[in-house]
Amino acid sequence: MKEKKLIIKIVMIVLAVILMVSFMPAAVPVMHQAAAPATQKYSVTYTVHAAARKVFYATYSKKYHRTKKCRTLKRSKKIYKVTEKAAKKKHLKKCKVCW
Ligand SMILES: [Zn+2]
Repeated sequence: MKEKKLIIKIVMIVLAVILMVSFMPAAVPVMHQAAAPATQKYSVTYTVHAAARKVFYATYSKKYHRTKKCRTLKRSKKIYKVTEKAAKKKHLKKCKVCW
């Protein structure tokens, strides 16, 4: 009977670890949203200089975007902000959805 209690204890610990790990990636997009107001400032000024304007791209994306709110970026957890020049250097192409 002592063994059974021990097994239950181990199962509980394993479950707790699984829960912790599965909740961790969910915290990332929340942090990302907190930084959102900075983009609005850019959306006002991005027409000033084509080469220096900021664009957005996701980790495995082959396209860069005019706005972080582009619907093709919705599923991306991590979005990077770079100048359009830097995006072109990375051989990224303009997203047809948001340009
Ligand atoms: Zn786009």
